[in-house]
Amino acid sequence: MKNVIFDSPEHKVIFFEELTPASAVQSNQVLIIHKDEGMLLDPGGHKVFSKLLSELSVYIPPSQIKYIFLSHQDPDIVASINGWLMTTKAEAYISKLWMRFLPHFGLDSQLEGRVKPIDDNGTVLTLGGDCKLYILPAHFLHSEGNFQVYDPCSKILFSGDLGASLGQDYFFVEDFDKHIRYMEGFHRRYMVSNKVLRFWANMVKDLDIEMIVPQHGAIFKGKDMVKRFIEWVENLEVGVDLLTQDMYKVPSG
Ligand code: FE
Repeated sequence: MKNVIFDSPEHKVIFFEELTPASAVQSNQVLIIHKDEGMLLDPGGHKVFSKLLSELSVYIPPSQIKYIFLSHQDPDIVASINGWLMTTKAEAYISKLWMRFLPHFGLDSQLEGRVKPIDDNGTVLTLGGDCKLYILPAHFLHSEGNFQVYDPCSKILFSGDLGASLGQDYFFVEDFDKHIRYMEGFHRRYMVSNKVLRFWANMVKDLDIEMIVPQHGAIFKGKDMVKRFIEWVENLEVGVDLLTQDMYKVPSG
């Protein structure tokens, strides 16, 4: 099945990329299953909720989802959190910076106890008894309190908004140079600074990564493509690197 991007007897990674309505920014959702436990990454908004719930039920009963990971606070990540906590027994993890913002998305007070704050330096969560998932700091890429997930059981890095692409019509990046046009504008505006990108590149360089899966757009598959992406962002000027006084002027009436 095309949705299964990693498959072994004990470990599966399922990628959902077609559930977003046309007017909304395309968003990917991911389900990691290890043995009989699941982790749902960046489940998305209300329009995605019922479709994702029925599609993931093909792979695992919702009651066996142990964790919901929220990379940051944006609506395409967290808007349906109340529904997910009601239909599963999962704990949701989000940066401590965003904990108290979730009630604004309709999180019921009796469910608030199942949302767990992640400290700035990240954490490790264990799935199915023996698969350790590394919650990596990725602050300011783009959100001030932002995390990514490295899954050593599949060797996949789930990079959130970093690596996002918009407008392409393919599933896996084939030609990195041609793919840049679909990433560049987003990264230059949304990512905060090259300094942060270099810190991130230093952190992930020693990880054994076979695939980078962003929250929007296409997947980087294979060590060469992963290396190309890391080198590209490491050298990219973004965000505050590009600001000039021209952007900060009172508009003329
Ligand atoms: Fe975002």
